[in-house]
Amino acid sequence: MTDSQFNYTGGCRCGSITYRIKGEPTWKVNCHCNWCQTTSGNVFRSFILFNETDITFSGETLKSYTDHKTEHGRPMINQFCSNCGTIIGIKVPDMEQRHISLGSIDQRYEIDIVDNIWVQEAHKFLSFPDKSELYKAGYWNGTGEKFKK
Ligand SMILES: [Zn+2]
Ligand SMILES: [Zn+2]
Repeated sequence: MTDSQFNYTGGCRCGSITYRIKGEPTWKVNCHCNWCQTTSGNVFRSFILFNETDITFSGETLKSYTDHKTEHGRPMINQFCSNCGTIIGIKVPDMEQRHISLGSIDQRYEIDIVDNIWVQEAHKFLSFPDKSELYKAGYWNGTGEKFKK
């Protein structure tokens, strides 16, 4: 397969891990839960979900940390480069999609995110554009409760 067949590329800061993705995202979301804050060392995480079969990794193996006590209601595997620490994303057991960290994608400025989950735990200094969809907690197949702006 040639590079022109891949829509997205990315990887970690030191270059030990790279990936190529041939499909389009299945979901794009910012998560403001406490788990995402702590594990990223930041205020929220931006995830772009792709079908696992569309992603090809190269280089070193991702370092994985499996956490069974998460606010997402299911185990999460935090995945990062063991050399530079760049968080490549999250793997959820039994899920056919992989959460890729927006900041690790080369084309990140071409990607817009409207959905925000776990806004009840969002930092007070954040503000959201009018077009944003805000959900109090999780969002399971369209059943998420809206957060009042
Ligand atoms: Zn690295
Ligand atoms: Zn989260």
